[in-house]
Amino acid sequence: MQSCPNCSSSEFTKAGVINERQRFKCKSCGYYFTVPKLGKQIDDYYVNKALQLYLEGLTYREIERILGVSHVSVMNWVRKYNIKRPYNSKYHPTYKILNLGELQKYFLNPENLKGAGQLVTELGDKFMLIKWDRFKD
Ligand SMILES: [Zn+2]
Repeated sequence: MQSCPNCSSSEFTKAGVINERQRFKCKSCGYYFTVPKLGKQIDDYYVNKALQLYLEGLTYREIERILGVSHVSVMNWVRKYNIKRPYNSKYHPTYKILNLGELQKYFLNPENLKGAGQLVTELGDKFMLIKWDRFKD
């Protein structure tokens, strides 16, 4: 690994993939930077996340927006790993991107936990909460 080109800190987190290059966000100064490598080999982290989101019912465009990987890449991975989602046309989850504090606040409100299934997944330095209102019709 290397260090932040702006402040030389070695504390940084993954923040998406831009043009097939891993992007990082510096934890001390907030600067975004990419490393000039990867080429075709995108981090497994994003492949797993993308396929997970796909299975949860998100569209290719939504996955592109959330993860910063192109929807074409996501389509290719879905094909490559032969991922099929169960057919359900009415099913579409809602999701929020929250930081740790917002996530904690969210779970303190019992109203947010009633009548719905939800899943929290790590996303760079934030969290994504996916929620299904499956008990409504
Ligand atoms: Zn920095």
